[in-house]
Amino acid sequence: MSYIQQSFSIQFDYKVFFSENLFDPANTCFADFLESRAEEGIRKKLLFIVDDGVTRHHPQLQEQITAYCGNLSSYELVQDVVVVPGGEAAKNDLQLFYWLVNAVDQHGIDRHSYVIGIGGGSVLDLVGYVAAVSHRGVRHIRIPTTVLSQNDSGVGVKNGINYHGKKNFLGTFAPPAAVFNDSRFLGTLDERDWRSGMVEAVKVALIKDATFFAWMESNAPLLTEAESGSLQYLIYRCAELHMAHIGGAGDPFESGSSRPLDFGHWAAHKLEQLTDFELRHGEAVSIGIALDSVYSWLTGMLPEADLHRIVRLLKQLRLPLYHPLLEIEDENSAIMAGLGEFREHLGGRLTISLLRAIGKGEEVHAMDLDVLRKAVSMLRDKW
Ligand code: NAD
Repeated sequence: MSYIQQSFSIQFDYKVFFSENLFDPANTCFADFLESRAEEGIRKKLLFIVDDGVTRHHPQLQEQITAYCGNLSSYELVQDVVVVPGGEAAKNDLQLFYWLVNAVDQHGIDRHSYVIGIGGGSVLDLVGYVAAVSHRGVRHIRIPTTVLSQNDSGVGVKNGINYHGKKNFLGTFAPPAAVFNDSRFLGTLDERDWRSGMVEAVKVALIKDATFFAWMESNAPLLTEAESGSLQYLIYRCAELHMAHIGGAGDPFESGSSRPLDFGHWAAHKLEQLTDFELRHGEAVSIGIALDSVYSWLTGMLPEADLHRIVRLLKQLRLPLYHPLLEIEDENSAIMAGLGEFREHLGGRLTISLLRAIGKGEEVHAMDLDVLRKAVSMLRDKW
């Protein structure tokens, strides 16, 4: 027997910038970043792909981008900003994926150029995937425009699209070159979207940071009014906790069996699919969090007082706790397939995050059908 040993590691570094009105000529945040990445003798291209929910509410955006990028000496803007349908539909349409890959090809975007996604988590997941697989990896920049994408999905390392109704079945781990959170975009969000975007902050606080959870409780009245200062702090702290976990837990590309940041997500992903994506991701996660919190209490892990605080906060933020498709008859009930699919997505042993206390997650490797059924009936009847 003989073999050749290969071993190397790659360092990833990226910043998440917080700014306002990114394409105002007076705002140099975006330009400074690009100029810092300019290379002598190379004119790099910039291809913008934008969520139509954003262009609808910000009709002047394309003009602003053209004017702003016209001042960058080392970059060439692909003239037409590509506009794609926003929302989960963007991740359910393989033709749209191919169409964007074609755009990368036709506009001659190479590995030194940048694909820049502007939009909600769905469009950013799609754009990140297009960039990651074209030429085996074109650099990409994210400009998230929803609460959820600014505090969670846009600041991490994953991308993906749905396949055969399965969430994120196709996708890669590909860190962005940079992320720019522009608070200006949040002002045009539909109430359902900014509200449901806050749920990932509730989730990460429950798993990791009791102080942050208590802060949300104290600030719930301001958060429900989308008061700018509190919303900005929520986004910042939530993004910080997600990034600290991804970079600090030693498994950024999830090669183990555990996904602590996916607390509440096994049921959520299934509910999204079962409702034909009528439920927003954040709404489904809220229901998933409620279910797994009640389950944690019923199994004796979580103190009752903590459960009441969780339910109270979700209700204060006007987030849903129950959906009829959560109902469990037996092990063949539709929602139960979510457990198997959750396990299969990562491989290895089923690993579900539950709660030991507010701020303290704990992993288990099985879920009891009867207890789950009881948890669902409590969500249906009690709250
Ligand atoms: P979304 O992207 O589905 O967008 C919701 C709606 O908001 C869409 O209609 C969109 O057009 C519109 N919109 C976007 N920005 C707007 C703006 N500024 N003004 C007005 N309308 C605007 O919703 P989301 O909550 O941002 O993202 C959900 C997606 O993120 C799900 O597919 C979920 O699976 C994914 N996600 C990914 C990760 C990850 O790590 N990659 C993590 C969490 C969630």
